[in-house]
Amino acid sequence: EWVDFVKFYDRIIDRFELTKEQNVHFERKLLEQATFVEIDADKLTQVLDNIISNALKYSPDGGKVTFMMIKEDERIIVSVKDEGEGIPKDNLEKIFERFYRVDKARTRKLGGTGLGLAIAKEMVEAHGGEIWAESTEGQGTTVSFSLPYVQTEGDDWE
Ligand code: ATP
Ligand code: MG
Repeated sequence: EWVDFVKFYDRIIDRFELTKEQNVHFERKLLEQATFVEIDADKLTQVLDNIISNALKYSPDGGKVTFMMIKEDERIIVSVKDEGEGIPKDNLEKIFERFYRVDKARTRKLGGTGLGLAIAKEMVEAHGGEIWAESTEGQGTTVSFSLPYVQTEGDDWE
């Protein structure tokens, strides 16, 4: 199904902004122009739900979550950045493995099964994209994924 990812992403962010219980600020840096990608919208909703829930779960009180989207060559890159305690470098790739959780004591308290990012990875890869995380301990984490994007003439008319 062809979806304008800007609108799609914006609506998902709206839903979290309306229902969040934490004191966390949202900032959006999305593309101005409609950007159509061919995706399974239900699956990508699950991917974003997990990444955004994680960002909220690990955000400090008063923290900011930044939602970004850029176009780069033949792909779009979608990112969610938080100001949480971060993930140690050695664990950055492991968080995409099933049942992997960085700090068992901390994460047990926050709930979850450790499956969210493993499922997200599977779904992003099924779309021909990649998923990765960058983090500075004590400063925050950015989780990003890419999706193939083909510039079409129609985009200029939006
Ligand atoms: P589930 O998503 O199944 O409810 P979960 O959130 O613990 O459980 P994942 O979403 O797969 O599982 O994340 C795996 C682990 O990666 C988390 O337990 C946490 O340790 C770490 N993690 C993920 N996102 C962040 C983040 N934004 N900041 C800090 N740690 C994170
Ligand atoms: Mg999760």
